[in-house]
Amino acid sequence: YAAGPRTLPEFADAARAHGDAPFLVGEDGTVYTYRLFLRAARALARRLAGAYGLRPGDRAVIAGRNHPEWQVAFWAAQFAGLVAVPLNAWWTAGECAYALDDCAPGVLLADDERVRLLGGWASRNGVPCLDFRAAAREAAAHACEGAGCAGGTVPDACGGVPDACGGAGCEGGSAAPALPVVRPDDDATILYTSGTTGRPKGAVATHSAQVAAAMNPRYQAAAAALDRGGAPATARPPVSLTTFPFFHAAAFTSVYAVMAAGGTLVLMRRWDAAKALDLVDRHRVTHYAGVPATALQLLDAAAGRRLATLTNLNTGGAPAPPALVRRLTDAYGDRIEPRNGYGLTETCGGVLAHYGEAYRRRPDSVGRPTPVTETRVAGPDGRPLPDGETGELLLRGQSLVRGYWRNPEATAAAFTADGWFRTGDLAVVREDGRISVVDRVKDVVIRGGENVYCAEVEAALYGHPAVAEAAVVGVPHPVLGEEVAAVVRLREASGTVTAGELRAHAARGLAAYKVPAHVVLQDLPLPRNAGGKVLKDRLRDALAAAGGC
Ligand code: ATP
Repeated sequence: YAAGPRTLPEFADAARAHGDAPFLVGEDGTVYTYRLFLRAARALARRLAGAYGLRPGDRAVIAGRNHPEWQVAFWAAQFAGLVAVPLNAWWTAGECAYALDDCAPGVLLADDERVRLLGGWASRNGVPCLDFRAAAREAAAHACEGAGCAGGTVPDACGGVPDACGGAGCEGGSAAPALPVVRPDDDATILYTSGTTGRPKGAVATHSAQVAAAMNPRYQAAAAALDRGGAPATARPPVSLTTFPFFHAAAFTSVYAVMAAGGTLVLMRRWDAAKALDLVDRHRVTHYAGVPATALQLLDAAAGRRLATLTNLNTGGAPAPPALVRRLTDAYGDRIEPRNGYGLTETCGGVLAHYGEAYRRRPDSVGRPTPVTETRVAGPDGRPLPDGETGELLLRGQSLVRGYWRNPEATAAAFTADGWFRTGDLAVVREDGRISVVDRVKDVVIRGGENVYCAEVEAALYGHPAVAEAAVVGVPHPVLGEEVAAVVRLREASGTVTAGELRAHAARGLAAYKVPAHVVLQDLPLPRNAGGKVLKDRLRDALAAAGGC
């Protein structure tokens, strides 16, 4: 590891070895091989440093849906020593303006929808706003990168003389601005937390944190192989249908895993289960990576058929109901290996994972941490609790962010003096040493003094075959303080299942005080954020507006 990459540019340069293998496949069929991708990213980096005069440490906002050129823009920013700030593509202009004002970028790189959305802010603030798709394509057409050039009409032919290689628009060898030296302690990214717990905060990661994060999937793959008795997961490089939005930390884990293995990322602009099934067939997809909600929809749409090439189903970023792995196993046996990855924006992606047989046996767990991550389950005073007791999950390790952008108060509140990050999640260490996340601290329902953990009640509801989605929240109660309520969407063709039947089903596995007093059935999908998490505040408000159920 010490001899491995120390910065994101070094990590990306290592992918040169994958040459003409396809790296990015857009929904419209655009393909970037590794060679083309690296050439485009470096050429765009030179343009950012040259024509736009951006200096190392300046922020470059990347705003858009999952187009291949999103990745070109992101890695161009890395090569130019800029701090990439991926922006949530679901945000309105007002929500974006908050983050833009906060990080004060030197450039915006956006898809056409975001160019329109953010153009006003850009012109008001005198910040250039480039269409990243056009910019990446133009950069890819620049044939030469000078010394060490991998491409061009005649590789390396310019020998430092601009345009000598004959590449159209070539900026030419040494005449092009040199890319800066990036150091491990330099800031690489600012990712805004999704804001389910207040105003978004910019979580700042250094290159060494991101490189540690890039190593996490390798450790996890090695651990999964050990669990299987050393057998490799797939003989050929993975072809991964990655549906996490690129601006979300969970996507970084998939992108790094695929880049390191020389695999292919198959992208979707917008989630659609039927289209996902077609993409799996068309591109012979081996790995699915997305939030649990979309994975459940994929399994429902496949109805036990298709998915013939799939070997791995990786979910993360939000709680996975145990029914997910059960439904997978019922339909496909052990042919498709499940994985549940746990992580946060502040850990730069997945830092705990649970896979294969162990996951099938214990489907309510997030498994174990990677070697660069320490875990602690702590009581309210921050001291470690014995295994089996529920407390807040604290994390420490190399892939953690260094704090929040220009917000020392929030940083001090989130990190302890000795470097532990408070996740805001409640967890318990099981007898086998694996960790289960039972709820977010703020979502626990306190019913008459008894704690009711949402994950347990949601798992009981998902255990009913008619349940497509379930979310549990606390609603005010005059005597008990709070009462347990559930909002459920049934699967299509589930007939006449009633709220009473669901309550009775939950009561078979749960103590009476945990059984939802109210079960509200709805046809609409549950409201979720871009990271696939149910927006529980919105459900609580809706239930209150409906007269407390
Ligand atoms: P905010 O901090 O603004 O509320 P957020 O927490 O939704 O935003 P993320 O950092 O994307 O933003 O989400 C991390 C959270 O997602 C974790 O704290 C945890 O609650 C949840 N989570 C992620 N992966 C899993 C998983 N595999 N199982 C259970 N929960 C998970």
